[in-house]
Amino acid sequence: MTAPAPLLMIPGPVEVSPAVLAAAAGPPPGHLSPRVLEAFGRSIELLREVFQADGSSQPFILSGSGTLAMEMAAANLIEPGEAALVVGTGYFSDRMAEILRRHGAAVTQVTAPVGAVPPLAEIREALEREGPFKALFATHVDTSTGVRVDPEPLCRLAREAGVLSVFDGVCATGGERFAMDDWGADVCFTASQKALGLPPGLALLVAGERALTLRSLRQAPPPPLFLDWDSWLPIHRAYEERRPSYFATPATSLVMALAAGLDEILAAGVEARIAAHARAAAALRAAWEVLGLRQVPRSEAVTGNTLSVLHYPEGVDAGFLPRITARGVVVAGGLHPAIRTTSFRIGHMGYAITRPDYLQRTVEAVAEALREAGAPADPERAVAALVAGLGA
Ligand code: PMP
Repeated sequence: MTAPAPLLMIPGPVEVSPAVLAAAAGPPPGHLSPRVLEAFGRSIELLREVFQADGSSQPFILSGSGTLAMEMAAANLIEPGEAALVVGTGYFSDRMAEILRRHGAAVTQVTAPVGAVPPLAEIREALEREGPFKALFATHVDTSTGVRVDPEPLCRLAREAGVLSVFDGVCATGGERFAMDDWGADVCFTASQKALGLPPGLALLVAGERALTLRSLRQAPPPPLFLDWDSWLPIHRAYEERRPSYFATPATSLVMALAAGLDEILAAGVEARIAAHARAAAALRAAWEVLGLRQVPRSEAVTGNTLSVLHYPEGVDAGFLPRITARGVVVAGGLHPAIRTTSFRIGHMGYAITRPDYLQRTVEAVAEALREAGAPADPERAVAALVAGLGA
């Protein structure tokens, strides 16, 4: 008998639901088949609901990973020589800054110690003193630190300064509240393999009206063909009308999975899904506390609900991760250079948060591995804290 597949509790890719798995299975359909037109068109409509974006916004569905969505945002919004402000909360905001530089932006980064968010006053001051900026970029949840920013006041500051606001929702969308229209955010993007609960392979971006208009007024040479919103706009409009169209071959099997996954999320409504992430995260935090595991984010207010980034306890190091794997649960090591060898990460997003048994297996594996590594850990009390939290 083959061993059961390990439970994938890293911060993406994640476990996917049976419905998503079934939708992606089978021979890949053609990109002009009625099934794909329906799934593509429907996904465009549903993405507006997930991002809480209005009808004037344009969702884009591209083959690629989250980094491609980052490139797409930079390529369409930044003309060489323009200035961009990056709110620094970890490895992925650093990546955004590097991408922006490569697109010719003059980048200012407002940073904070690892685990913290730069104060709003500092961001406001940078916007006032160091501009004029074209856009402000922030990472909703940074996967290297677990730190969550509050996008709403950032959108407000950006509006006041006449600057676009752009959010990396790769580790957040579908798991953290994001109200694009209400908040006046201009662009948000994500990738399929995180809180949307799909296999990796799709870059998803929603551009608001203001961002689309600024792209159309661009003076510099156009962005690379594959990244250019202008290349994709007619195709997405056709797909939304369920008309066949072609610019570059979509990942048809993944588009089938996307429609199924978004349907699943929206069956109970996006707010319910986000509340479920918050509940699962709080229950897991209670379990980590019982186990004496400290969070990297410095306060609950800046702690994302899609993953836990935890310091190793005294006397424990990365050598304890294989002990977790040996118990059939895969978690991730540290990523941020400053805490790479002193922290580890557990993803809890998408389908997994609807499965209390997955969360319990994860807590048990971590607790038993800790005990085996010599740390004082009580698996039963940790599981009890989780169960109590989930029931609350
Ligand atoms: N931004 C964030 C916040 C991420 O977590 C990731 C992936 N871990 C990315 C961007 C890059 O996405 P990808 O690995 O899919 O290219």
